[in-house]
Amino acid sequence: MSSLENLYNEWKKYYPDIPLEAYFKQDMLRLGISFDSTSLLNPGTYKTKDYFIFSFDRIPLNEMTQEENWKAPEEIRFLGGEYNLQQTVVSVRINPKSPYKVFNIEGQLKIFYQNNEIASVLYPDIPEYYTKKYKTEKLPGEIAPVIEWGYLIYLTVFRNCQYFGKDEECMFCDINHNWRQQKQSGRPYTGIKPVEDIIEVLNGIDQFDHVAKAYTLTGGSVVTQLGGKNEIDFYGQYAKIINERFPGRWISKVVTQAYEQEDVKKLKDCGIEIYHPNYEVWDADIFNQYCPGKARYIGRDNWNRRIIESARVFGNENVIPNFVAGVELAGPRSFKSVDTAVMSTLEGLDYFMSHGISPRFTTWCPEPYTSLGDQSPAPLEYYMKLLRGYKQTWKKYNLPVPPGYGPPGVGKAVFSVSAFMDVLE
Ligand code: SF4
Repeated sequence: MSSLENLYNEWKKYYPDIPLEAYFKQDMLRLGISFDSTSLLNPGTYKTKDYFIFSFDRIPLNEMTQEENWKAPEEIRFLGGEYNLQQTVVSVRINPKSPYKVFNIEGQLKIFYQNNEIASVLYPDIPEYYTKKYKTEKLPGEIAPVIEWGYLIYLTVFRNCQYFGKDEECMFCDINHNWRQQKQSGRPYTGIKPVEDIIEVLNGIDQFDHVAKAYTLTGGSVVTQLGGKNEIDFYGQYAKIINERFPGRWISKVVTQAYEQEDVKKLKDCGIEIYHPNYEVWDADIFNQYCPGKARYIGRDNWNRRIIESARVFGNENVIPNFVAGVELAGPRSFKSVDTAVMSTLEGLDYFMSHGISPRFTTWCPEPYTSLGDQSPAPLEYYMKLLRGYKQTWKKYNLPVPPGYGPPGVGKAVFSVSAFMDVLE
């Protein structure tokens, strides 16, 4: 029996309630994807990785012998094959050692698992607005890239985090290391994006694009001041100008730390509709050790209280905090079994969902320069049990589909860094 048949049989035996597409997607996200040289021959014909905030790669840029950092697609969409898979979007995390490998065979892209063909593959098109000229000399894909198969405009307006160094940075986050690597590689990479550049490229999107439906304003935490502004005012200034210039054109989302209601109201007043105060990990000990800056500056109890209270400003369904699924099984404070880790994380989900708030999750990628970079990714079993528990809890509280993520369901979801939208109906 081939290794792919074994993998398939595992799914059939233990997780038949989870779509097979979500099973493969989570495995590709946790293990990364490898690219045969044949699959990287024409990088000018598809959208390549823009490194929209983190590296999300399993090796450093300077070890990419095929220049995958310049040539790999932002995402892949797999479909068809022996299992007749519905089209599924997966964010690309480069890992030359991954068992998932893309080949170009006689002009057709295919993805294999340990030399067994799984499905056909598509790469994303280059958006039309990427090809236009702008007053700014910066590239549109650097200033306002799209991800999620074109659905989401990703505005990382501050490419660093003021939580800096081992004592403050979150242990799973490579935002500052990614910045250093990208600059060293020669990629144009603006640290603090001028609002005029953003507006300029958004003009192009407004004019030429019909796929993007939402934007996210994001970046590192501002602990003191940035450009003379605190974090709320710093991110709020972009939101205000964008929403005045393009009222209602895209769903507006922002990621900041968790703030008191009078502060988050300022974001709402700037036209923000969806608020992401990311709590990262539920377990208190792990949060305190793995998010030392956030723990010291705001504290877990304040953080979680503020998440709940911010629903009074934005409405329950518009508060969508993220957690980084899988870190609770890595590093010095980790849970020793999948079941205890899932139990803890579901406790957090139950807490937020009982208040009408649906968190979302991203799949932890052990990026090499982070404090957890030498750890193994969480097992696939963890992600399957988490998806199952997520869906059950979401149904238990009869919650709506989280807004701003595109359509839910297998074959339709575009959220690319976890399968949570793929399993919702
Ligand atoms: S607060 Fe933590 S997760 Fe957020 S950007 Fe800073 S280091 Fe990364």
